[in-house]
Amino acid sequence: MEHRSWAEPWKIKMVEPIELRTRDEREAAIERAGFNTFLLRSDEVYIDLLTDSGTSAMSDRQWAGLMLGDESYAGSRSFYHLVDAVRSVYGYEELVPTHQGRGAEHILSQILIRPGDVIPGNMYFTTTRFHQEHAGGTFVDVIIDEAHDPDSTHPFKGNIDLDKLAAVVDTYGAERVPYVSFETNVNMAGGQPVSMRNLADVYEFCRRHGILVMLDATRALENAYFIQQREGGYQDRSVASILREICSYSDGATVSSKKDNLVNIGGFLALRDPELAARARSLLVAFEGLHTYGGMSGRDMEALARGIEEMVAGDEHVRARVGQVEYLGNTLIKAGIPVVRPIGGHGVFLDAAAILDHLPQEHFPAQALAAAIYRDSGVRGMERGIVSAGRDPGTGENRHPNLELVRLTIPRRVYTQSHMDVVAESVMAVYERRHRVGGLRFVYEPEQLRFFQARFEELPA
Ligand SMILES: *Cc1c(COP(=O)(O)O)cnc(C)c1O
Repeated sequence: MEHRSWAEPWKIKMVEPIELRTRDEREAAIERAGFNTFLLRSDEVYIDLLTDSGTSAMSDRQWAGLMLGDESYAGSRSFYHLVDAVRSVYGYEELVPTHQGRGAEHILSQILIRPGDVIPGNMYFTTTRFHQEHAGGTFVDVIIDEAHDPDSTHPFKGNIDLDKLAAVVDTYGAERVPYVSFETNVNMAGGQPVSMRNLADVYEFCRRHGILVMLDATRALENAYFIQQREGGYQDRSVASILREICSYSDGATVSSKKDNLVNIGGFLALRDPELAARARSLLVAFEGLHTYGGMSGRDMEALARGIEEMVAGDEHVRARVGQVEYLGNTLIKAGIPVVRPIGGHGVFLDAAAILDHLPQEHFPAQALAAAIYRDSGVRGMERGIVSAGRDPGTGENRHPNLELVRLTIPRRVYTQSHMDVVAESVMAVYERRHRVGGLRFVYEPEQLRFFQARFEELPA
């Protein structure tokens, strides 16, 4: 037999009912939400692909861990379980627990960035860049050009362009560059991986210039899987060993545990240098919590430690996770829908600029497309384009990203292949009548991270 189907390496023990609201109810809901899918109530959503953040299904072993969590204020047993899990899976000695990823980004930015510093990174992430700028730094994008091209099929679109990085160091001097912010499986580029070769080259370059490398290792597991699938020499290596090697080319990492780590809340900063870790811990007590819980309860830390162990217990978990994303993506590609290629690790990114090519970027095509898909089927995605990019803090002008996308993000271990079929059919239906989708304008624009709470109205046709 040539082709064999694969299946998820789990079976379902408990179910959570979901409900499809009527067309009229959906119309009323999206109007009330100001055409912002973030402002819908989850009860109004049928299949929720807003984010894969904190939306994973935990295993029976993790749920059992909740009962065993140690809620001692100081020195919790669950904290030490977490320390052991991070040491053995990621290989970092020093663990600084935080309430979620942005807590770790805040602490890291505060201990390393001085006003006037420059932080090169491979495309920006919203909260990461916010904390770098909040600490007085300036973010400079040094990702390869292919990352900004939705049609480029480069296998490692997350890579850093070493010439761009060298130019930043030449222009500002190494002493103004405290670290390189190196994201694995770059979220804003569409979940696109970095290669091991690039990780090694960047680390070597930074060592020569006395610059640290700090990973955003939030999605490093999915990145490790892509290295196994795409990079020469890694086919026979376990995803666990590839993940360890990724982290070996860095001085530390911030992690949002709401993604790869299979829990609903949590995160951490991991470091090698005990002196840096001591500085992080002294800020931690002011902003997050004591250094042995940092914003998580004991049961959160227990479930997290177990999630970290589980995600690398075998390669089947990540193969099924990315496999489901690829299934949805390939279904859409076969139907001729413009999507970012190659299909990324955590979601399918619809090219809203190409789909709604009758709308200028100022009319928020991705925001409008996400609203149109919700109206059609109750499927919730989110905007990743000009609204998410925000305004330049210097000029106050809108930033114009090359990518104007709708992200359909797949939660881990939550939906089945039939749900993916329903989603694909809805996108195809909206695509058929794409010329009838109109643009939007702001009625409320928050100052920071505006995409979360902005409200819009439809432009007159
Ligand atoms: C989600 C995410 C973050 C922020 O983490 P939170 O837990 O939401 O604060 C940072 N970086 C990347 C790549 C992410 O996906």
